[in-house]
Amino acid sequence: ATFGTLSDRLVETFKNLRTKGRLSASDVDGTVREIRRALLDADVALQVVKDFTAKVRERALSDEVNKALNPAQQVVQIVNEELVEILGGTQRKLQFAKVAPTVIMLAGLQGSGKTTFAGKLAKKLQGEGHTPILVAADLQRPNAVNQLQVVAEQAGAAIYAPEPGNGVGDPVKVSKAGVEFARQKQHDVVIIDTAGRLGVDEELMKQASKIRKATDPDEVLFVIDSMIGQDAVNTAKAFQDGVDFTGVVLSKLDGDARGGAALSVASVTGRPIIFASNGETLDALEDFHPDRMASRILDLGDILTLIEQAQSAFDEEEARKVAEKLAKEAFTLEDFLEQMQQLKKMGSMKKMLGMLPGMGGQMKQQLENFDESEIGRTEAIIRGMTPAERNNTKILNGSRRARIARGSGVSVTEVNQLVNRFEQAAKMMKKVARGENAGIPGMGAM
Ligand code: GDP
Repeated sequence: ATFGTLSDRLVETFKNLRTKGRLSASDVDGTVREIRRALLDADVALQVVKDFTAKVRERALSDEVNKALNPAQQVVQIVNEELVEILGGTQRKLQFAKVAPTVIMLAGLQGSGKTTFAGKLAKKLQGEGHTPILVAADLQRPNAVNQLQVVAEQAGAAIYAPEPGNGVGDPVKVSKAGVEFARQKQHDVVIIDTAGRLGVDEELMKQASKIRKATDPDEVLFVIDSMIGQDAVNTAKAFQDGVDFTGVVLSKLDGDARGGAALSVASVTGRPIIFASNGETLDALEDFHPDRMASRILDLGDILTLIEQAQSAFDEEEARKVAEKLAKEAFTLEDFLEQMQQLKKMGSMKKMLGMLPGMGGQMKQQLENFDESEIGRTEAIIRGMTPAERNNTKILNGSRRARIARGSGVSVTEVNQLVNRFEQAAKMMKKVARGENAGIPGMGAM
């Protein structure tokens, strides 16, 4: 997926760093060099990479890090903060007009995902109680109006389109009439889908600029395909000069893009990324959060928070023990029981498990199903087992499970569920320990 390689490389860089106590200037330089290469290979624009690495280097060599107990962790934190910064800092939400209708104009190259996004946005807004209408102002591409009609129907949204068979209409007039129509019919949001070209050209810009003047939109969203790599910056700049825009939509973030566009566009244009579009279906749309995206890129989960919590809940020695336990390949139910007492101190068990890094999709889902209120019952079940059973769940046959259930006052199903869940968690921890996922093994050293 997007950022996969970049993530792997950054995580690898930090892994090496983590084994160090104090950081020398050459450690910092080495790390910065690695980060620089990783970003360039991910197609991040050169200027962005330069600024980014210069800032990271300066901060990493400062007293802030030098005096810290855990310099490596500090560096990770700095990289994280600077990543959030180049992604735009704080989240910027879609802005609505004080007096309806809110006009949202879409701009971007052909194939960037504008029409699809128009449908996604209409659907999302409908879900939030708005009454959006789509305006078909892409009259260049023969099939564009039809395509918008299809997504409007899928989204269950209204559409304003020129009469078919009318020859080539005037997109500026259509846009203007569309906004007027929306006002009359009391649609509170108008989404104008404009024409794109395969490459940036002057006529396209002129037209988009005219539409902008004619409709005075509250938002002009520039939709950019995350896959376009190094071209992202030039395209974004051309649209900024030609039409200007108030926000960015990253599309196709589900693809195998290297992530360069995503990482360059906000800082090069100074315009916030508002949405991330990540799939062909209409619900594949997310609000963009710079901080979450940075965490995702660093694949750290909330590891920094986790470390902080560990540090405040235990003394260092104890924190290290927990980390070792988690990383241990032979993690048994006996360990689980012991740790459960300690982990309780760290706050919600579920939250704790959710903060483990490198945990995508299914695994995360499984952990999220972990109900904290069950901890008491879980303890009872484990206590109902013999030490041999705790150390090796493989020997838990039907009659043993029935006995445990009776002894701990739960159903056999609950015993089965616990054992399954535990086995899954143990598998996951083994993976983490083998370094297939980021973080945990070195956690104590960070
Ligand atoms: P437009 O020319 O800018 O209106 O672009 P379209 O909306 O027609 O999208 C071009 C192609 O990209 C279509 O095949 C879409 O299905 C596909 N597409 C759009 N958004 C996404 C996305 O977020 N993820 C993926 N995988 N495909 C997308």
